Amino acid sequence: MTLVIGVDIGGTKTSAGLVDSAGALLAVRTVPTPADRGRKAVIGAAAGLVRALADVPGGAGEKVAAVGVGSAGVVDPESGVVVSATGAIAGWAGTDLRGELSREVGLPVAVDNDVHAHARGERWRGAAAGRTDVLVMVVGTGVGASLVLGGRVRHGAHAVAGHAGHLPAPGGGDRPCPCGARGHVEAVASGPALLAEYRRRTGSGAAHLAEVAHLAAEGDPTAAAVLAEGAAVLGSAIGGLLNVVDPEIVVVGGGVAGCGEVWWNALREAVRAEVLPALRDLPVVPSALGAGAALLGAARMALEEEA
Ligand SMILES: [Zn+2]
Repeated sequence: MTLVIGVDIGGTKTSAGLVDSAGALLAVRTVPTPADRGRKAVIGAAAGLVRALADVPGGAGEKVAAVGVGSAGVVDPESGVVVSATGAIAGWAGTDLRGELSREVGLPVAVDNDVHAHARGERWRGAAAGRTDVLVMVVGTGVGASLVLGGRVRHGAHAVAGHAGHLPAPGGGDRPCPCGARGHVEAVASGPALLAEYRRRTGSGAAHLAEVAHLAAEGDPTAAAVLAEGAAVLGSAIGGLLNVVDPEIVVVGGGVAGCGEVWWNALREAVRAEVLPALRDLPVVPSALGAGAALLGAARMALEEEA
């Protein structure tokens, strides 16, 4: 059985998993991303994880055949280069991710954006298994999407396709978005945006969104309103996308999707209010793989690279 390694490079942590060709996750390693030390350090950290996992015995002593990477930023899978990125990782834009990591570890490397990797994972072993047309949303520090149409992840003409967090948000006002524009969905519905809004309304120092989610579940009206309003903005955006794209299913992952029933109910209600009648029953479901989705999707890319 072929063994590959999937790597998920985010702004705060980098994870890697040893995966077999059936999609079993055999071992996982995680380190903090040395984001403020720049591209060499970040690639070095990923290479260190790959080397550590390549030494894990995988059954009958098979060798690792290839590496797949899902990374934050706009990533061009054809050239292997990070086309652009927010400031989350210093100097990340312009990085020849495939070339530099491949030289470090001496293995073939396939790369893509982390949300696209998440979508590949859900299609392989998760909530979208067996589906051909899928919208995957990942809602965490940012808001991202991946469109799978005709069984293929769509990157568009500039590798930008899927950046649904940068749709305009009705009622988004002039809140600044990390992309530099104002009033985008990400500026209203991301985890940091929800936490900031809760703090603004209550003057509280809640440190984590999980505290807000807990309060909402206990019936706190302000916490519930903040979550529901953010989810409604996101749901409207998703509904609009569904009218354009018409997938079979929507899979929603990321940390904010763990905010509980208040958030999910508002999300589904807003989707339903926006979609055309033929799409009213389109399933909107949670990620089945959670944080492991991008790892598995990256591993799947490595298998395809190897095939
Ligand atoms: Zn934006």
